[in-house]
Amino acid sequence: MYPTPAQQAALLEQCRHARYVWNLALEQWSMWTRDKGPTPGYVEQSRQLTEARAAFGRLRAGSQTVQQQALRDFHQAIRNFYRRTHQRPTWRRAGMHEGFRIVGAQASRIVKLNRRWAKVNVPKVGWVGFRLSRAVPEAKSYRITRDRAGRWHLAFAHIPPTIPAPGTGEIVGMDRGVTVAAALSTGELLTCPGLSEFEQARLKQLQRGLTRCRRGSNRSRRIKAAIVKLQARSGDRRKNWVEKTSTDLARRFDVIRVEDLRITQMTRRPKPKPDPEHPGRYLPNRRRAKAGLNRGILANSWGALVSLLERKAAGRVERVNPAYTSQTCGVCGHCAQENRESQAVFRCTACGHQANADVNAAVNIAAGRAVSARRETPVWVSPKREPQQATSV
Ligand SMILES: [Zn+2]
Repeated sequence: MYPTPAQQAALLEQCRHARYVWNLALEQWSMWTRDKGPTPGYVEQSRQLTEARAAFGRLRAGSQTVQQQALRDFHQAIRNFYRRTHQRPTWRRAGMHEGFRIVGAQASRIVKLNRRWAKVNVPKVGWVGFRLSRAVPEAKSYRITRDRAGRWHLAFAHIPPTIPAPGTGEIVGMDRGVTVAAALSTGELLTCPGLSEFEQARLKQLQRGLTRCRRGSNRSRRIKAAIVKLQARSGDRRKNWVEKTSTDLARRFDVIRVEDLRITQMTRRPKPKPDPEHPGRYLPNRRRAKAGLNRGILANSWGALVSLLERKAAGRVERVNPAYTSQTCGVCGHCAQENRESQAVFRCTACGHQANADVNAAVNIAAGRAVSARRETPVWVSPKREPQQATSV
């Protein structure tokens, strides 16, 4: 979205209201103790909101929909928390969580200007222009957010149709890579783009500069903005890559097999190494090194790739137990620890087959025993709720 400075101020005011209501609701919820009764639910809280709007002019000046929907969002967050699919709701902070939701008839006030531009009538703000990055779907609600780099986004609540299978019967295996984001059983290595070397150096330089200047000074604000801009750029690139790769895989293959992450977490943690000289003590096992920043980013893009695949190729993604996939030969099936020559190279001690270690693991995953990735019991979803993907839980 491209709001004018005046509209930006009005939008930010709406974000402030949504955040204020959310934080109040969170405060009420977290004040629960064993000896008191239950904390107010959604109905009670929205009645309180009506009272508060009557009493305080500042709240009354804002849109009721925005404030009401912040309450709805909060109760959805609580439900997700009790269902154990999400973390505990957190405090909403200025600059970090800027956004609100519009529902109902107000959400359909959209006028298409031409092929690339349209405008939306946001309550209490007016007509704001936005660029059409895709066709506007039939949706009952939209959400306006401002990211940390200060860009405004308009998103409609709509689940895009899934991608149909090509019908070739082809099966592909995908393994999480050590240095690349993922390897396919076809031999392709998928690299998730981040910042270029020059950009990384610039980021480091900026971060160093930030530690040297006074907090709250103009210079620190300028440096912070530049850092956030670089981080947003790397995030955009990753997101773009994940979208394109998942669409490509869903179009090319009938069945996509991936390692089951829940099992991986148990099998891939390095074992504690006992110190032979001091019984009861342990040697370093590179666990901290494994928790490196780059690794975290790779893991994130891997997780995003799998969950997007499950949405785009619904029912065609199978999770496979990854045990021994990195030690087993993809050609003869010989399984031994010595097969893994190094992190990157796989060489079979039985048949001499040599391959990229990640590709070899992907071949094993493609041939692997499949475990269904779909949940057997569907989660009950309120008809009033924004449409959401049950498989992404
Ligand atoms: Zn072999």
